[in-house]
Amino acid sequence: MTNTSAKPLRLGIIGVGKIARDQHLPAIAASSDFILMAAASRHATLDDQPNFASIETMLADGPQLDAVSICTPPGGRDRIARAAIAAGKHVMIEKPPGATVSEVVALQQLASEQGVTLFASWHSREAAGVDAARNWLAQRIVTRVAIHWREDIRVWHPGQEWILAAGGFGVFDPGINALSIVTAILPQALIVESGTIVVPANRASPIAAQIALRLPNDAPVQLDLDFLQTGKQSWTIAVETTSGTLLLTEGGKRLFIDGAEEILDLDTGEYPRLYERFSALVRDRQSDVDLRPLQLVADAFLVSRHKRAVSFDF
Ligand code: NAP
Repeated sequence: MTNTSAKPLRLGIIGVGKIARDQHLPAIAASSDFILMAAASRHATLDDQPNFASIETMLADGPQLDAVSICTPPGGRDRIARAAIAAGKHVMIEKPPGATVSEVVALQQLASEQGVTLFASWHSREAAGVDAARNWLAQRIVTRVAIHWREDIRVWHPGQEWILAAGGFGVFDPGINALSIVTAILPQALIVESGTIVVPANRASPIAAQIALRLPNDAPVQLDLDFLQTGKQSWTIAVETTSGTLLLTEGGKRLFIDGAEEILDLDTGEYPRLYERFSALVRDRQSDVDLRPLQLVADAFLVSRHKRAVSFDF
């Protein structure tokens, strides 16, 4: 929904990197709910905005802001979000919402005390097939789930050293997108059972992972993550039920029921929908912080066997 009555929210963006340029800036420019006022990034700048090297200088010396959108990697997000919330700004954060579950819980508490909105966004939940998948599964009994999230790190994250550093999530950076979808579409909670996490010899975070989960009715859920997939890339979730099968492909953009493709409303992209939601949350004085995908990743790290692989360089 577009906010037509209220004044646009004055927004600052923090962390001008790939996702900020590819998705956030176009979505903000197209929205009547927000007006971009400033950018804060250690090195990067935007041509047509006041630029600051940190959130602190943006808040101290920049234009008046109502809200900020944080697009930095998860490590260090906590300090940035904390500064914004303490200054009374509404905050939207990219996925994953933080480097740890505990830091995001503390942020939630601070946002509540300060009376501001905290929106921990999950962009994949806004993919075209997700709402329809949730509706189709709502009354069905799931018997098996297979998730394959296999992409080429060199294509999608070129030179992003942080992603394989400690706290960078490694292959769980894209993998958490799959978990954000399954936690949204499956009617029951997921439980992590065991797994294998593969870490290159010269890195701290995984390049591949095989995780076994289950539903409370013991239906198995297989999570297969690979960052070294060349050629055809796959971001698929297959769900078997006692009354038909569901397949989401292309990260949730396409939906197939019993093999036949569903016609979906593709008018609005994931990021315009996220900014609509952020605006609505601010207007309604609500926060939205669903920690389940992050908790599942943390649990996978807790129970998995860690295997060393050959060194990886971009
Ligand atoms: P990126 O291209 O590396 O950009 C992040 C920017 O944040 C950097 O350019 C950097 O700009 C700034 N930054 C601040 N602290 C940093 C640090 N400690 N290490 C590295 N950069 C730091 O990363 P991205 O792909 O945009 O990802 C950012 C977030 O968006 C991640 O949480 C990711 O999961 C999420 N995301 C990414 C994609 C994608 O396709 N790339 C898709 C959806 C969501 P300065 O050097 O100027 O500070």
